[in-house]
Amino acid sequence: MDTYEPPIFELSSPGKHGANLPELDVPAASLPTNLLRNDDLAAMPELSEVEVIRHFTRISQRNVCIDTVMYPLGSCTMKYNPKIHEEAARIAGFAMAHPMQGENLSQGALQMMYELQHYLGEISGFDAVSLQPAAGAQGELTGILVFRAYHLDRGDTERVEVLVPDAAHGTNPATAAMAGLKVIEIKSDDRGNVDMDDLKAKLSPRTAGLMLTNPNTVGLFEEQIQEVSRLVHEAGGLMYGDGANFNAILGIVKPGAVGFDFMHYNLHKTFTTPHGGGGPGSGAVGCTAELAPFLPGPLVAYNEKATADDNAYHFAYPEKSIGQMKTFWGNFGMLVRAWTYIRTLGAEGLREVSETAVLNANYIRVKLKDIYPQSFDRICMHESVLKGQIEGAPDVRTLDIAKRLIDYGFHPPTVYFPLIVPEALMIEPTETESKRNMDFFIEAMRRIAAEAREDSDILHEAPTNTPVRRLDEARAARQPVLKYDKVKFDKLREEGEARVHEVNMASVI
Ligand SMILES: *Cc1c(COP(=O)(O)O)cnc(C)c1O
Repeated sequence: MDTYEPPIFELSSPGKHGANLPELDVPAASLPTNLLRNDDLAAMPELSEVEVIRHFTRISQRNVCIDTVMYPLGSCTMKYNPKIHEEAARIAGFAMAHPMQGENLSQGALQMMYELQHYLGEISGFDAVSLQPAAGAQGELTGILVFRAYHLDRGDTERVEVLVPDAAHGTNPATAAMAGLKVIEIKSDDRGNVDMDDLKAKLSPRTAGLMLTNPNTVGLFEEQIQEVSRLVHEAGGLMYGDGANFNAILGIVKPGAVGFDFMHYNLHKTFTTPHGGGGPGSGAVGCTAELAPFLPGPLVAYNEKATADDNAYHFAYPEKSIGQMKTFWGNFGMLVRAWTYIRTLGAEGLREVSETAVLNANYIRVKLKDIYPQSFDRICMHESVLKGQIEGAPDVRTLDIAKRLIDYGFHPPTVYFPLIVPEALMIEPTETESKRNMDFFIEAMRRIAAEAREDSDILHEAPTNTPVRRLDEARAARQPVLKYDKVKFDKLREEGEARVHEVNMASVI
């Protein structure tokens, strides 16, 4: 028998429902006519409770997640999210707090935010922190808008260029362009660092700043970071730190101490707030005292002299603030989780996180480098970039290897990023993977290489045990079918596009 599961909309039968309401014990009242719906609800399925539960539980199990498998997705830091964070975020005083409730009723929540600002500042060596931005990319936009505001405030109107290394994450150039500035690309040298000659040639009185990730996007520490900072500052520019790779240097390097002026933290990467599927995330930002007046508000301030009648913790708006980046107080639930993480580990624990993350990444790199060529022959930081070019298997590509890993029960690593490495496979195990799990992963990668040489079709056909096989990823992203539409769906099926229904129709609705 096949595993056909009809889409939930087609299970509907009139009159079925899953709710039991008590008998009315007040006089019935009719709704005002302007609030009444005149048309029938289109295609709302009528189902029993068990049918609804099975539908949602089933589709939830199709989600690959860190709670079920190792997820070595480079640059994304898919570490395990401890469950104590969920408990903390569900404490009623946090979970039920209303964003419009007054400061006097929010002292505990404000204290948590104030302390988190302080911890993040301390860990990174910055003077001020704003918890506003919703994600790393929004933190970047915040930073570049702050750079622009800072230059303009000094009457420095010509600084309209942002330098971005060729290995950078796509959000960096996108951010600079979105802020209305011009993107200038900087080459990488043959050790994977910023090319100093290219940097010198492109710095000018038009430079607003440099956006740099350190460790960088090939998983390597920028060896000349202090010299890079000196040159940028000498040219009148500012240093933006993309903090997505902060997991490699906690308690070891303070970005503020090596020349960065501004940085975003991906609380959902380094500080274990859950992410994936686009949210929720938090891209808090830190900066020097010089840039602090431009930060987006509100920040949380503390008044030591407050009496019991005052609000010791209160919102404060920086004097030249670029404005608010996010409604209300940022993604508050994420802040509670990050606070809990920092308090659980303490300073030594955070340092151990980074030491272990770096050790794990190098363990995998060394165990695989005889089969998968390394992009740069150096000790890596928290992730390594290998190439999916297997000797003796010329028709196998990185994409095939990634898809085959799914059959072995692993989420694939990041592929084809950074763009400067051909057939890139970027592996980030994080500190939360045990040696045993990493050994399984290494064994899978070695077996896949053997399969590639012996019968490469196994790889070309992978994955074979998933509800859906290889999708047209560009089309899925650009023309997503997000709600069930029987006519559209039947048409796709006829055209052979919805091949997926043979395996499971429910997975495409
Ligand atoms: C994840 C990431 C970003 C963007 O962060 P989001 O929170 O996904 O917006 C930027 N740069 C690098 C290097 C990243 O890995």
